[in-house]
Amino acid sequence: MKVLVVNAGSSSLKYQLFDTSNGDVLAKGICERIGIGGAITHKVPGRENYSAEIEMKNHTVATRILVETLCSPTLGVIKSMDEIEAVGHRIVHGGAYLKESVLVDDDVLEKLKGCLDIAPLHTAAHLMGIHGCIEAMPGKPQVLVIDTAFHSTMPPEAYTYPLPKDMCEKYHIRRYGFHGTSHRYVSGEMIKILGKPAEATKIITCHLGNGSSISAVKGGEVIDTSMGFTPLDGFIMGSRCGSIDPAIVPFIMEKEGMTPDEMNNFMNKNCGFLGVSGGLSSDCRNLGEAIAEGNSDAKLAIDILTYQIRKYIGAYSAAMNGLDALVFTAGIGENRTEIRRDACQNMDFFGIVLDEEKNEATKLQGDNVCISKPESKVKVYVIPTNEELMIAQDTERIVQGLK
Ligand code: ADP
Repeated sequence: MKVLVVNAGSSSLKYQLFDTSNGDVLAKGICERIGIGGAITHKVPGRENYSAEIEMKNHTVATRILVETLCSPTLGVIKSMDEIEAVGHRIVHGGAYLKESVLVDDDVLEKLKGCLDIAPLHTAAHLMGIHGCIEAMPGKPQVLVIDTAFHSTMPPEAYTYPLPKDMCEKYHIRRYGFHGTSHRYVSGEMIKILGKPAEATKIITCHLGNGSSISAVKGGEVIDTSMGFTPLDGFIMGSRCGSIDPAIVPFIMEKEGMTPDEMNNFMNKNCGFLGVSGGLSSDCRNLGEAIAEGNSDAKLAIDILTYQIRKYIGAYSAAMNGLDALVFTAGIGENRTEIRRDACQNMDFFGIVLDEEKNEATKLQGDNVCISKPESKVKVYVIPTNEELMIAQDTERIVQGLK
């Protein structure tokens, strides 16, 4: 089945056309500057990339342009739109309403609109993307694959914040967790590698990118995860602070005369690696270069990360009463050997023994690679994430079920 996977931002629309029979990506690209100009970058494996500036006044126009590009005799990979059987949308927040991948209908759209309150920017962008696809491809089944959904199995003691019950109910405040599609993909791969029944597995998945989260996956289900009500919770990230003493928030607001919006923006954009490194960079590559030149602030930023990862491994091993496998994924998890090494240091108490040579040797070719020693009780793996493939597969499963 050919499935178009769409990830809509407020002014962008990323797309990948999958052939789910073999998982191949036939074409992918991005429409950018929607509403303020317009540009498309379109990539087909084995061909030269194509870029063009084309006016895109809204997401519907952007979708029409990307579909025309996919069907174009010179740039395209399909003859007509009829070959696309369904569209899968990446949704960041399903709130209290959407807890699994689902076919779009009026009721589902209403539920998604209910998330505008807790995730206004992402949800508004998703709604524009969905409406754009419905208008540009009328009659095609549209499926939502939701980043919070995989975490909906958490027990109340993991998802409840110690706030008054009525306040949590009134505003739907709880731990939701994010990157769920990635945690689901890599834990699913890890379960296959372990070769035991899913019910018997205990896995920690570390999705480390610009935004990062760690999940405890027991018996194939999430029992806890580091991100919370928003993707700001957890541990140090590129420019997000993660968990801090909550009293720091009103303290800084008062001292600096910040509004709630300004404070929120500050914690999302000015903290994390960027903040600790004294404004140097939110990107690990730059921090790595600075560390090589002796920059102690850059080193502290990375030391905070590896220390906090070790604390999560300890906490989640305790929460699951054991650990079979530890998985690293996403930009940092897949590429930064020194961060994986330091995160696994002095963890023999937990049965983690890293093979430093294997860890160094992983110049990944998109493979799942074991980086622990044979005697390591806990298997440590690097598994490149593939959220888009998960979205395509969920979409196929749901659309097949309609037939
Ligand atoms: P996002 O959360 O935006 O999807 P990524 O998963 O791409 O982010 O992760 C971004 C982080 O991963 C950056 O800190 C970057 O330095 C690091 N990273 C990504 N790709 C590489 C690479 N090929 N080599 C080294 N570091 C990388």
